[in-house]
Amino acid sequence: MDRRRFTQLSAFALAGTQVRASGQSSNNSTSATRRVGIAAVGLGSIAEVFMHAVGATSNARITGLVTGHPAEKGLKFGALYNVPANSIYTYETFDRLRDNPAIDAVYIALPNSMHCEYTVRAAEAGKHVLCEKPMAISSAECRRMLEACRRANVKLMIGYRTHYDATFRKLRELVLSGALGEIQAYEGGFYGMRNKQQWRLDRSLAGGGSLLDLGIYPLNTVRWFTGEEPEIYRGLVATRDKGGAYATVEQSIDWMVKFPSGILASGGSSYGQSGTNFLAINGTTGHLRLEPAFVYGDAVLKYTGTSGDNELSGGGPVYAPDQFVSEATHFADCVLHNSQPATPGEEGLADLLAIEAIYAAAGTPIA
Ligand code: NAD
Repeated sequence: MDRRRFTQLSAFALAGTQVRASGQSSNNSTSATRRVGIAAVGLGSIAEVFMHAVGATSNARITGLVTGHPAEKGLKFGALYNVPANSIYTYETFDRLRDNPAIDAVYIALPNSMHCEYTVRAAEAGKHVLCEKPMAISSAECRRMLEACRRANVKLMIGYRTHYDATFRKLRELVLSGALGEIQAYEGGFYGMRNKQQWRLDRSLAGGGSLLDLGIYPLNTVRWFTGEEPEIYRGLVATRDKGGAYATVEQSIDWMVKFPSGILASGGSSYGQSGTNFLAINGTTGHLRLEPAFVYGDAVLKYTGTSGDNELSGGGPVYAPDQFVSEATHFADCVLHNSQPATPGEEGLADLLAIEAIYAAAGTPIA
């Protein structure tokens, strides 16, 4: 972690401490400052970012932790977020969340193949669910998660943080306003193995390769911006590495889809290519390119392009306003006001259906 990001996180941690102090002291069920209590499940790299972000919200707080390492990670994050020892759970004691009224919801940040099981168990314990992307490793699992949350009458939201980002929302507005004319095509990519955890290269835990981890960003963005589902799929996978690291998942994947409107979209992702991450949009009278587009951390998202004779440019830092704070705030709002998340489980299912179709087109079965 670089120094600037560390300083930023420290500021969030501090803000979180103040926020948590008022949150803990208020009556959680009746006060106007009611905060949704969230238990983080899986205390890895993204959970750490998310927990800092929750500390900066005004309507949520971390009230529980689920970890395979209660004595180490549990106590460390428990001290940071003021979570009492009796609200620190393991995967074996997870179902006891049911008896903890301070926990309204869970945030699932586990390897992909564990999302389904822990979403279903959380729903059965009566807890709302914010689950990281990809929603699961198959559409069948997504449907089980949707059904479990429907039956338990709890919210199910997928952590598509870009939907809560000001730059992405601005680009979508430009597209919908007709500033680029009639949209013809999208292109997107996300390359590089930023997270080195081995589970990402193990099909039984990851479900597939970089498409589920990185390529899902451009895929989800074009589905979101077009408001359509692809009807024709093409895909190619390739693995040049002969060392065995990619024995169960592909190293690189490229795909192309056609939407019912006639819009074309292509995308690529890889764990083995050095590259950037970007989104390009071509309309009849204008075009836009966002780069970087999909990273988090210290990144400043930037777009340039044209609308007729006018130049377009803009963007903003991922953390100002913070994508993760906006996402957590929205989730807590949905719980507090019983409203539908902007990125519900159905959005995760639609991505998994598209991912399955891309893998099928590439001749590679998923999961
Ligand atoms: P990570 O490896 O840093 O964390 C995973 C956590 O799961 C760890 O705490 C690990 O101990 C725990 N775990 C429990 N059982 C495990 C097992 N059998 N094998 C391995 N780990 C196990 O991973 P991460 O980067 O935090 O990713 C977690 C999830 O979050 C993934 O689904 C990933 O796609 C998603 N993610 C989302 C974003 C985002 O920007 N929204 C960014 C990174 C990751």
